[in-house]
Amino acid sequence: MLVGNGDGFVSCDCGRRHWGLFGAAGLLLSDPHRGVLLQHRAGWTHEGGSWALPGGAVQPHETSAQAAARETEEETAVPGEAFRVLAQRTDEHGSWRYTTVLATTVGDAAQPRVTNAESTALRWVPPADVADYPLHSGFAAAWPELRGQLDRRLVLLVDADTVLGAQPGGRDARAGAVARLRDRLAVLAGVGVAAGDLGLGAVAGAAHWTWWPHVVLVAGGPAAGSGSGAGVGVEKAETGGSGDGRLVTVVPGTRPAEPGDHLVAVTTDDGRRGQLGADAVMAPEALWRLLDACTPG
Ligand SMILES: [Zn+2]
Repeated sequence: MLVGNGDGFVSCDCGRRHWGLFGAAGLLLSDPHRGVLLQHRAGWTHEGGSWALPGGAVQPHETSAQAAARETEEETAVPGEAFRVLAQRTDEHGSWRYTTVLATTVGDAAQPRVTNAESTALRWVPPADVADYPLHSGFAAAWPELRGQLDRRLVLLVDADTVLGAQPGGRDARAGAVARLRDRLAVLAGVGVAAGDLGLGAVAGAAHWTWWPHVVLVAGGPAAGSGSGAGVGVEKAETGGSGDGRLVTVVPGTRPAEPGDHLVAVTTDDGRRGQLGADAVMAPEALWRLLDACTPG
């Protein structure tokens, strides 16, 4: 059976025409030292001559993040290994949508060069200078909100004791349970979580955002330091604390995230939010629901 690809124009509910039968996606690639990667669009393209992001039509088998990565490699020769996806924001038009995927460079593997006819130039632009460029209208409208989230991670702080609760069995059973939790969190970190499911209502336009969390799993006992799954760091808790208290004793006096990160703590105690400097707290039951939705129990 022939399955059409996503190339084509859509007559949108908003009254305009857009490229991409299944929507479109673009990559907002940020480098802490070089700025954000902008594409000067070739004259024959929609709003040709303007500056915007590498990207294009989403194909039927792709997620928006996959489409943004594929289009970016086609247009700039920057491979997916050269960046880490942090979040995405979707501009929903009804019969069409545009998703901006925010990513940050990893090392210096991102060396963009013009590789096809869709762009006439690629340039790293300091965020403060972006608005001075003649931008594509859609990107221009989204840029202020996008700029506010550049290079900002979502750190999900998970205390194994709180999430697993009291369990029968000895040290080995405990270590096994922590290891399984770590593996399931690694899957969650690769799937992405809607901001609303993280309790991040305070983030501007939160309903439009999805985050790929950086998970910090805090585990005392024999599982600590036994290695990390992708995106999941296991940090060894200080012993001597009890229950939820370990959340605070792990990183005394400091917020367990970098400045600018969004911090969501999984805890049963709303009072911990202030102690941790967390932007939101999530109940263990809510985390289990997310894990059950993306990984087999
Ligand atoms: Zn539209």
